[in-house]
Amino acid sequence: MDFLLKSSGLLLLVSLFTLINAGVASAAAPVNQPNIVFIFSDDHAYQAISAYGDSRNLIETPNIDRIGREGVRFNRCVVPNSICGPSRATVLTGKYSHLNGFYNNNTSRFDGSQTTVAKLLQKEGYQTAVIGKWHLVSDPTGFDEWNILPGQGDYYNPQMIRNGQRTKQEGYITDLITDFSLEWLRNRDKTRPFLLMSQHKAPHRTWEPAIRHLGHNKDRIYPEPTTLFDNYEGRGKAESDQQMTIAKTMTPIDLKLIAPNDLSPEQLKAWNTYYDPRNKAFHQAKLEGDDLVRWKYQRYMHDYLGCIKAVDESVGKILEYLELEGLSENTIVVYSADQGFYLGEHGWFDKRWIFEESLRAPLLVRWPKVAKPGCVDQHLVSNLDFAETFLEAAGVPVPTEMQGRSLVPILKGQVPADWRTSFYYQYFEYPVPHHVRPHHGVVTDRFKLVHFDTPDVEEWELFDLKTDPSELRNVYADPTHTPVVTELKNELSRLRTELKVPPLIPKDAYGARTPPQLR
Ligand code: CA
Repeated sequence: MDFLLKSSGLLLLVSLFTLINAGVASAAAPVNQPNIVFIFSDDHAYQAISAYGDSRNLIETPNIDRIGREGVRFNRCVVPNSICGPSRATVLTGKYSHLNGFYNNNTSRFDGSQTTVAKLLQKEGYQTAVIGKWHLVSDPTGFDEWNILPGQGDYYNPQMIRNGQRTKQEGYITDLITDFSLEWLRNRDKTRPFLLMSQHKAPHRTWEPAIRHLGHNKDRIYPEPTTLFDNYEGRGKAESDQQMTIAKTMTPIDLKLIAPNDLSPEQLKAWNTYYDPRNKAFHQAKLEGDDLVRWKYQRYMHDYLGCIKAVDESVGKILEYLELEGLSENTIVVYSADQGFYLGEHGWFDKRWIFEESLRAPLLVRWPKVAKPGCVDQHLVSNLDFAETFLEAAGVPVPTEMQGRSLVPILKGQVPADWRTSFYYQYFEYPVPHHVRPHHGVVTDRFKLVHFDTPDVEEWELFDLKTDPSELRNVYADPTHTPVVTELKNELSRLRTELKVPPLIPKDAYGARTPPQLR
């Protein structure tokens, strides 16, 4: 009896404590603070979202398109450093790589003690979760729930790490991330606002679609980009001397001439049923030269776009959940990717460059009653702005050391008169894996000034996007552009000062085992 009384007393105390806590939390979180669902995929090119209207008409993405149709589609969302980890570090911190310390995917490790948007929102009473691709090496901080892939993660039957505990899952990664995201939404504390970062591995290399999406395109022959056979004339050594071409860099695993090793026997059977006859026909054809490149491009498109089918379905499921729960109106839904990606333009896959297909990420934002439906915005915005945007939306002061700017005024259709007209870019990772030389530069709506700086290549390049949208002609040495070059060099210098870029890059920024010889 005594024990029962004590237990009841304890229970009463626990209940009182819970009530008080709930009271505090709801007092700190007024009902109008919006929820934030941030859906972030990996290497999803804007050319592969139907809303962006690529002339090749590669794929229909009705669910992703819906976010833009019911909200704002940004046409020029650029990234400060076009690779996975650095982009994720920027999203969390609102800072460039040289300030958040995450420069490259080879050796960088995210310092989880720094201020992040997740921590600031959590402190404000938001429930926070990150589910899926993380890729920042250290464990997540600032999240009530984290359920992430180790490193790049596997497409099929992946391991995941849930709040520090490693688990082995069965199924396809995009579906698992979707299911875990929905499960977290269902089980959350419904009295408080939330930040959910649902981050897909897809459509990252090696582009393995869900089994149900093998053959999704019915062996369609995709139009080729006009620059598939680019010979890099008119540009410097950096563009011709890289390792990211469809022709030379793609491996048998990339091309599905070898099956991945993470398939279950049943999945492998379905995989072989699709690929075996096609691979047999390929081997028999003994293709060479341009014909071989063409075949590789077609196989690449089938697989890459197949991955996106499941991502689009995932977005549909999340939107449907929000609608059924009556959450659509007070939830900001963002769809973006960690950078752009080449789908055969310039003969390439991958990213890294300051050039357009790599630099530009898709960005679609729905925020009913705030963001004007159906708007298409052309301003220079960036994933550097995401943290600031979420904080302003939540009514949380933005730390002065963050380097982006809230997009809330633009979403409202009230573009500040002093919105940025230039953007600083800097890439570091070298020489592996793709031998793209470190470079930095400045981007405006019309021009791009780029500086490559390694012992064998010290080059400036200037591109005029108005007359040369595919960036095929370096006009740096053209005397008619001298005034533009002078102006952009001054702007580059101004931006480097404003953004606190150190004059010398730390040696470990390149992520090479033996740091490259650099000036
Ligand atoms: Ca990426």
